[in-house]
Amino acid sequence: MAHPQPDTIDPLHLQVSELFYSIQGESTFAGYPCAFIRLAGCNLRCSYCDARYTYEEPFRPLQLNEIINFTEKYPAALVQITGGEPLIQQGTYPLLEKLLLAGRLVLLETNGSISLKDVPDDVVKIMDFKCPGSGMSEKMHVANLKMLSPADELKFVISSRGDYEWAVNCLYDHIPDVNNPVHIKNRVKVLFSPVTGALDQSELAQWILDDGLLVRLQLQLHTILWPAKTRGF
Ligand code: SF4
Repeated sequence: MAHPQPDTIDPLHLQVSELFYSIQGESTFAGYPCAFIRLAGCNLRCSYCDARYTYEEPFRPLQLNEIINFTEKYPAALVQITGGEPLIQQGTYPLLEKLLLAGRLVLLETNGSISLKDVPDDVVKIMDFKCPGSGMSEKMHVANLKMLSPADELKFVISSRGDYEWAVNCLYDHIPDVNNPVHIKNRVKVLFSPVTGALDQSELAQWILDDGLLVRLQLQLHTILWPAKTRGF
């Protein structure tokens, strides 16, 4: 096994960290059965990263068909491609196309630093737009904010009051009608999620209530279901 490099250009193979079947723990799809494809390698190094094994541990090179075969074991499940950062691998794009052609509901979790312009429209993009507490906010591809549709999700992972205020300002700068309830179905879904161990979830909930902010508080369902697990979700 080899260690993942972020410059994979072979479109027929992917560097895979793990494949697993579980309950979707995040996003507005939380609670649904989901086949997860966790790809290896990441171009960022967030301060709170809980998936370091995707770029520090060996990966498995797999052909696209081997990955598709895995998803076919769970024909009704959602399929989520996550990482690491999936968009650093060229093979991610044909994989997305193949999954859509097979009639799957495909979610793509991406870290906000790489343009979404070549991601197929029918893929549900879940973009984790990095706040300053991550140490990676300067790496964000800001133009992505305009590429998200009402079917997509924009997530802010928040570690402090400073991150919260940064995220609120970002929203008002780029989605001016974010707090207009009439438009909530016509804009990207917005999620605020606390960094475990850094920000109390009830404190974040109170800030959202105090500001009357039309964002969705996201807690991690999988950490409630399986508190001792550290990977495979
Ligand atoms: S983008 Fe995700 S996988 Fe990459 S360093 Fe940040 S938290 Fe970790």
